[in-house]
Parts: sequence; C-alpha cells; structure tokens
Amino acid sequence: MDQIKIENLEVYAAHGVFQEETREGQMFLVDVILNTDLRPAGIADELTLSTHYGEVCQAINVYLREHTFQLIEAAAEHLAEELLMQFPLVDSVVLELKKPHAPIKLPFSNVSVRIERGWKKVYLGIGSNMGDRRKFLEQGISGLKENARIRKVKCSEVIETKPYGGVEQENFYNAAVELQTLLPPGELLSFLHQLEAKAGRERKVHWGPRTLDLDILFYQDFVSGDPVLTVPHPDMANRAFVLEPLNELCPWYLHPVTGKSVRQMLEELKKQCGSEEESEKGKKTPSGQL
Ligand code: AMP
Repeated sequence: MDQIKIENLEVYAAHGVFQEETREGQMFLVDVILNTDLRPAGIADELTLSTHYGEVCQAINVYLREHTFQLIEAAAEHLAEELLMQFPLVDSVVLELKKPHAPIKLPFSNVSVRIERGWKKVYLGIGSNMGDRRKFLEQGISGLKENARIRKVKCSEVIETKPYGGVEQENFYNAAVELQTLLPPGELLSFLHQLEAKAGRERKVHWGPRTLDLDILFYQDFVSGDPVLTVPHPDMANRAFVLEPLNELCPWYLHPVTGKSVRQMLEELKKQCGSEEESEKGKKTPSGQL
C-alpha cells in the first residue's frame, strides 16, 4: 500500500497523569504513516484525489490541543480514530506519539506509543422470521449506517428461505451485508447485539424465531475459535441462506482458513445437497433490494 509519512510534528499539548502536566503542558512529537492509494492523484496530478498532508498536520494539532488525556495510549487511540474518520481516502494509519519530556527522573531520550488502526472489511449475515421481516431488516441496516465507526454499507438482495435447525417456525428473510468498520471484532459483535435487542430480539429457543439476527461471517482475515465469537462463522459452508446472498456481494472472497472462495463453497454445498437443496434454496423476495 502507498504511504504518506509525517515525521516529528511538534504539538504543545496537555496530556499526562500529573497535575503539572495538564496545567502547564509540554511538547509532543507525532509520527504518522497514512496508508492510502496514491495512484489516482499521481496519474492526474490533482490534490483533491489525495489526502492533504498539511490538513492532516492541522487536524493532529487541533485534536491534541483541544483534548486532554491522562495516557498517551488514549491520546493516540482517539487521534488515530479521528484521522480515519476525517480523511476518507486513508485506509489505515500507523501513529507514534512521543513524549520526550515525560516526567521520568532518569536520563532518557524519548518515550512513545505506536499503534496501527484502520478500516476493516466485514461481511455480515442478516435475517428475520418474525413480524414485519422486511422492516426488521431495514431497521438493522439503518442501525449499521448510523454508527460513525461503520461506513460503505452495502446489502445484497433479500431472499426468502426455509428455517434451518429443525425448529417449526416461519420462513426467514435473509441477506448479506458488506461494510467497513473501525470497531474491533468483539466491539462489533456487542454492537450487533444492541441492534438485535433494539428490534426486540429474545433468545428463548436455540435456532428459534427471531425478529433480527446479525452474524459476523468474515472480519477481514481475522480468525477466532472462541465460542463467544467464532470467525469466520463456523457453519457458513453448510448454509445456502448465508452463501447465496454472500455470493452476490463477494463471490471471489477467500475463506481465510480453508482458502475456498464463497462461490466454491456454494457450488460444493449445492452438489452435496443435490436436487433437495435446489428446491430448498432461497427465493428472491418480491422486492429483493433493501
Ligand atoms: P445467534 O443465536 O446466532 O445470535 O448466536 C448466539 C451466540 O453466538 C452469540 O451470543 C454469540 O456470542 C455467538 N457467536 C459466535 N460466533 C459468532 C459470530 N461469528 N457472529 C455472531 N455471533 C456469534
């Protein structure tokens, strides 16, 4: 990935645990690497196609002067997020916040924290089989769009599918969603649970009816076997109602563990289930797009 680099930007600000640090302030130095595609600006020689490094320096200066944190960890965390939200062409940032005059009563030249943060591509499964199913899906999508730490939300067509898991219940409306987020996997899952709760979701029966169900299918190349959050979703390869809409959004996306593409998983599932699966597979709903 191409980079814009800023080194040793001086900012006088007031971050620290001690009173005199927040009262009097001190000099901080900031190194930033902005990972961003520079090709369009390079070809066209046009500033609006790139990220203006002068504006980035001003934004860092304003943010660090207008906020006060006890820890440089916190200052760096919030500043990285601010830059990613203010400068949309930046995919990720590497930020080092240096505090060369930190109150350490020993000779030293510098102390700093260095973090890397960025927008992650995520695929979700979304479903509903209670009440006004379309309305619940729309409500879920709106909730995602309203979160400042989520952007570029794109939804597949909605399909109607038979329930999975043997519990007698209504047909589902299912879709897949592509988005980018600054939320780490655990925080994203908590947010999805909040959206489910807002839709009145109750967890009474495993695989039972639900107003709104949101699952993390892929979180970039993140892999976790934790039962609280298993990613990629462990059962996706067996679920046509997940793979069909996902195949519409990202047929060539590769499963980070098996190396299989979404299209390949879907084709293998269809073959495995034969004509039975063909008759069970999702039908596009009358007005498919959300
Ligand atoms: P569900 O009934 O589908 O909403 O899922 C029930 C539980 O599955 C939740 O409490 C989650 O902690 C857990 N879970 C594990 N992996 C995932 C995942 N990839 N996406 C969503 N929930 C997950």
